[in-house]
Amino acid sequence: MSIEMIFNSLTNFKSVKKLAVFLEKWTSFDIEFVVKREDLIHSEISGNKFRKLKYNIEEAKKSNQNTLLTFGGAFSNHIAATAAAGKYCGFKTIGIIRGEELEDKIEQNPTLLYAKSCGMTLHFISREAYKQKDNLDFITQLHSLYGAFYALPEGGTNLLAIKGCEEILNKEDTIYDYVCVSVGTGGTMAGIINTTIPHQKVIGFSALKGNFLKEEVSKWTNKTNWEITDAYCFGGYAKVNTELIEFINTFKKETGIPLDPIYTGKMMYGIIAMIKEGKIPKKSRILAIHTGGLQGIIGMNEKLNKKNLPLIEI
Ligand SMILES: *Cc1c(COP(=O)(O)O)cnc(C)c1O
Repeated sequence: MSIEMIFNSLTNFKSVKKLAVFLEKWTSFDIEFVVKREDLIHSEISGNKFRKLKYNIEEAKKSNQNTLLTFGGAFSNHIAATAAAGKYCGFKTIGIIRGEELEDKIEQNPTLLYAKSCGMTLHFISREAYKQKDNLDFITQLHSLYGAFYALPEGGTNLLAIKGCEEILNKEDTIYDYVCVSVGTGGTMAGIINTTIPHQKVIGFSALKGNFLKEEVSKWTNKTNWEITDAYCFGGYAKVNTELIEFINTFKKETGIPLDPIYTGKMMYGIIAMIKEGKIPKKSRILAIHTGGLQGIIGMNEKLNKKNLPLIEI
């Protein structure tokens, strides 16, 4: 399938699903709550990663590049999405992967196995070397190894990615008082903020501990109708506990909507907590963006299994 065909299927898809009954039951609050199912955009190039790749792929095509190179960790949704986009759109793909030790363990890593099956060349580097990834010398070295390529930053966030994320919200979505989204690099949130109108507020649920993401988001937007919280990150990136897993499983049972443990599960947990805590007032209309990331569940379940923790139901 060409990228054009994937785009066309996007135009036809219904992304919004009403959930009000379920939320009333959980919070006993009169709140309108709707989930925008970006996870349904495409089974392999899912959610916000599709939005972030869209204009980059167009740009790579326009500039006659035939290779995409990007960076990511062992379970990266962006690595999986870039590998899939390469497969569907006819690009060679190269993934620079953080952690040399993973090289001998590809078989145990569903994300890397998947990327490889799409034809991605996996290039493993140490955590130390990975810190140099934005350094010009390092990029020059990569060019001498791999020739010409179109580089995408870690997590896929650049100007064209934000342009893509500005298409997540549309005119119909201006009725919502709050738009909620999970945050990794902040690119998706910035795109969403750029499309909101002044009465709307965007709440970002950070998947990482710390305050630095505020600065990242500010780089890509001039608006101020937003806030980021790390209060629901469960201790940090990719950290989970039994409470979160049980929440994800219950949410799916009640709504039919699957959540991932790194981003959307924590966001949804955070939204419900904020409603209960009165931080989101009664009678609010809330739109939660389901950014996808479901490919990460299998890898997480393998980790949970080793720790004898409950698994995420698929
Ligand atoms: C990558 C990702 C995010 C974070 O997106 P950023 O633009 O990096 O903030 C959120 N949700 C899911 C499911 C993701 O895969």
